[in-house]
Amino acid sequence: MRPESLMMSYGYKPELSEGALKCPIFQTSTFVFKSAEEGKGFFELAYGLREKEATEEMGLIYSRLNNPDLEILENRLSLWDEADDCAVFESGMSAISTVMLEFLEPGDYILYSNPLYGGTYHFVKNVLTKYGIKSLGFHAFESPENIEKYIEEQGIGEKLKMIYVETPANPTNALVDLEGCRRVADKYSTPDKKVYLAVDNTYMGPLWQHPLKHGADLIVYSATKYIGGHSDVIAGAVLGNMEVIKRVKTLRTFLGNMAGPWTGWLLMRSLETLKVRMDQQAKNAEQIAHYLNNHPKVNKVHYLGFLSEKEDPRNYEVFKRQLSSAGAMISFDLVGGEKESFRFLNALKLAKLAVSLGSTESLVEHPSSMTHSDVSPEDKALYGITDSLVRFSVGVEHYEDLIADIEQALALV
Ligand SMILES: *Cc1c(COP(=O)(O)O)cnc(C)c1O
Repeated sequence: MRPESLMMSYGYKPELSEGALKCPIFQTSTFVFKSAEEGKGFFELAYGLREKEATEEMGLIYSRLNNPDLEILENRLSLWDEADDCAVFESGMSAISTVMLEFLEPGDYILYSNPLYGGTYHFVKNVLTKYGIKSLGFHAFESPENIEKYIEEQGIGEKLKMIYVETPANPTNALVDLEGCRRVADKYSTPDKKVYLAVDNTYMGPLWQHPLKHGADLIVYSATKYIGGHSDVIAGAVLGNMEVIKRVKTLRTFLGNMAGPWTGWLLMRSLETLKVRMDQQAKNAEQIAHYLNNHPKVNKVHYLGFLSEKEDPRNYEVFKRQLSSAGAMISFDLVGGEKESFRFLNALKLAKLAVSLGSTESLVEHPSSMTHSDVSPEDKALYGITDSLVRFSVGVEHYEDLIADIEQALALV
């Protein structure tokens, strides 16, 4: 069955919860063992003291290690990306930082695509450096051949341990070729040093892009965005094969940054409507992109649906291979600068002026002075983060109402 058919029931047995149709919130810190022998057995498995027997299931011990709301959520989240397993966190940043701390060691290099989410960038530049982990960025629009050339020029091949990618890039929608990155990662892997490919799939997942199928080892999510989808919860997730998720979950146990049962329950509720929400958001985005594209006060619309085979064959090819939708994130350059952008943002009524994205309500913001305000002027120019750029996260409202809102706001610019 398809994931959307399974989101209401998968992994939950009503008979274990007094017949409750819905998975209850297991608001408990600890779990009662049936016997001392059972408790001993659970701990042997939890600490890896012995292998699991064929029919044995890992039992519940303590909510920092496992909890039904997290386990069922993790099983359901795994379905969309066809991952072996998943680990959920109390924020996207805790998912990202745990992956980096687990797979990187002092002396290693992490190579990342630029522009990166601000929190991730700060963690790489100000926290990982304290542990002797070095980093270099490549431009999201570079081809795999150029990324390889860059690694050679910088002489970091031997120390390269992780390629970390955000695609499409925020806020410009530049695409990174994941299969190309896999080839680069393999080239610098040796029998005793694997180069991991980790992908932040927050912008397109888990519906429209499945990085594991394109060679990624790890997917990270801010579940605060499309997965949560209602702007009412902060959460994160990591997905991959059994081996990598086991490592991530072990570090999570000791950092103690797992999601709580209430977050798990909220996200399970969100997953039931994930597909209908995202489908509608993408449809609305297409309508809005076309409207903006024909507006005299708009210079350029950055929308993946406008990629053209003739003008941009490389990105078009990556788009066709890697994505099943143009998504619901649009950015566009107004005619003018910051003054005109602010005038527009201040005049919107239905779309709310706020950062974050992927939610049921449409959200607009000004990357240059908000989400990307600490990007250097040179890099802003390089990535096209201009003073006239506005980012629009399209929600589930009626698209004609959104367009009417945009129309009245543009009229005031
Ligand atoms: C929001 C976001 C994050 C951080 O997630 P939090 O849930 O806020 O910790 C990471 N990456 C991307 C692309 C994001 O949009």
